[in-house]
Amino acid sequence: MIKSDQHMHSSFSGDSKAQIPDIINSAIEKNLDTICLTDHFDPLFPCYRADEDNIFELDTVRYNEMAVKLRNNEEIQSKINVRVGVELGIYPKVYDMCKEIAAEYPYDFIILSSHTAGGMDPYWPEYWEDKDPIDGIKMYFEEILQNLQNYDDFDVYGHLDYCVRYTKTTPKQRSLKLYKEIIREIFRIIVDEGKGIEINSGGLRRKGFELFNPSTEILTFYKECGGKIITFGSDAHTPEDVAYGIKEAGDILKTIGFEYIADFKERKINFTRL
Ligand SMILES: [Zn+2]
Ligand SMILES: [Zn+2]
Repeated sequence: MIKSDQHMHSSFSGDSKAQIPDIINSAIEKNLDTICLTDHFDPLFPCYRADEDNIFELDTVRYNEMAVKLRNNEEIQSKINVRVGVELGIYPKVYDMCKEIAAEYPYDFIILSSHTAGGMDPYWPEYWEDKDPIDGIKMYFEEILQNLQNYDDFDVYGHLDYCVRYTKTTPKQRSLKLYKEIIREIFRIIVDEGKGIEINSGGLRRKGFELFNPSTEILTFYKECGGKIITFGSDAHTPEDVAYGIKEAGDILKTIGFEYIADFKERKINFTRL
């Protein structure tokens, strides 16, 4: 049974209003052993609408001050392990900025995430306009590969097929065989470098999608490619969503044949039997 949730957002992320103490209380009520706060930092996002502020800039000073204080609080420590991480939104223009952010504070855990491809967020309808969904998905995976070839200061790659949450696709259009060679190369680098991926339940809460990211097919392929390091992440943006889908995630991983779930402390991996 999984008892660690390694991906969640508080009001330090521009798209969440959750207070960190409420998140911690929710995790304690849900009997978790470990949580990791992973607020967004997407440097220079969005890079294509000049009139908008970047709501995904993280105030790292205040975030680290507050999160570390709660992590070190003895009363909290007697009930749950709280870890302090960050979800870094990467794309080719910001590799150097990501390196600086990752090195700025001694985070417990760094999720690397692609929230854009070709300078566009797949969350936006514009991403999919005038594009065959298969080409949109391919472009997303190709950029992940490019990121991995150029950046290595992270622990797991987040929600690997995130883009498919935001367009209507048939199972055939999402099928692994269309993207297998790109994903094989993605997994080759991840496994060779001792990094991992996550099973993310954010999409499970999305009406009309209701699936984990990545898909069971991709998770199975990860195992075939020698992948062993996998974390669970609810990607909660509210206290109630902490640990969302945690039991189903464990069942899926066990069915595929994974034996362990991972969590991180001071960037070091810890395995717990599923
Ligand atoms: Zn994300
Ligand atoms: Zn997230």
